[in-house]
Amino acid sequence: MIPQSAAQVEPLNLIKHSREPDDWRAQLRDAYRSPQQLLSALGFSTIQQASMIAEDQGFTTLVPIAFAQKMRPQDPTDPLLLQVLPQHQEGLAHADFNQDPLQEANYNPQPGIVHKYKGRALLIAAGHCAINCRYCFRRHYPYGEQKRARSQWQQSLNYIAQHHDIEELILSGGDPLALTDSQLFEIIGAIEAIPHIKRLRIHSRLPIVLPHRITTKLCQRLQQSRLACVLVVHANHANELGEDVAQACEKLRNHQVQLLNQSVLLAQVNDNLASLKLLSERLFTIGIMPYYLHLPDQVAGTTHFFVSLEKGQSLMALMQACMSGYLVPKLVREEPGKQSKTQYLPR
Ligand code: SF4
Repeated sequence: MIPQSAAQVEPLNLIKHSREPDDWRAQLRDAYRSPQQLLSALGFSTIQQASMIAEDQGFTTLVPIAFAQKMRPQDPTDPLLLQVLPQHQEGLAHADFNQDPLQEANYNPQPGIVHKYKGRALLIAAGHCAINCRYCFRRHYPYGEQKRARSQWQQSLNYIAQHHDIEELILSGGDPLALTDSQLFEIIGAIEAIPHIKRLRIHSRLPIVLPHRITTKLCQRLQQSRLACVLVVHANHANELGEDVAQACEKLRNHQVQLLNQSVLLAQVNDNLASLKLLSERLFTIGIMPYYLHLPDQVAGTTHFFVSLEKGQSLMALMQACMSGYLVPKLVREEPGKQSKTQYLPR
């Protein structure tokens, strides 16, 4: 435990919004962009910070204020802080961890498209997120190369139009909701014009980390779409799901957007029954169905988040023993070359 001394600790009132709540782009610009900024706002002294902050390994810090406000001040074990703070273990090399564990490069028929599974394809709509999660399986993804291809939208859309088996289009990234409305609506409009696409799935962490992104304008555009809209959010801990997130979810549901959650099973963050149970219960309370619990991908720089399959399965068994079935997410892992995610049963 890091020693704390009141004399060394900065005041906590550094955490505050300087913008109107609905100005989500300004809130994104105001996000913490260094560990020092974040830790100072959480009341850690400069002496404490010196022992906590590690090299970012080329993956910079980015944390919206709305997310940081849900962290416990002066607690180095806070489960939200651990998801975003660069730690010394990121520098550890391990033979089983590499930069592209899912081998997405092999399923990239052209820049901007990942087509791994039958019936659905993924469009890399954005090359950035509103938060940088240290465990991210795309932390080494060459977004720069994919982003250049954004000027070649037509090629990506032609690919989708030519593949009639694709019924569901997944907008991913980065985070598609980090795009401006005009960029996002242009993409949605182009997808709607492809007759065989029936469903639009948006993968986004914005509703959780920057809930003011869920504007009435966005909700209305999704409701007006001829496509059935599913928004798969990403929350790993119940503490992420404050009242602001609940309000954003209510707005989405009021506009007929289905809400699912996928979490990642992360050591020190949520790898225990109490955390997982509370997460599922809170998700359900605010109208999000627990969907997937991913075993962490073996991405270089993330060994400290690793949880074994055996531990994942035993946690699932504990959840199943004390929770209603609809509150228990599926334990899954993506494996290169498989036709779908691999699901693991409780043991
Ligand atoms: S929001 Fe998603 S894509 Fe972005 S860094 Fe976090 S886990 Fe990765």
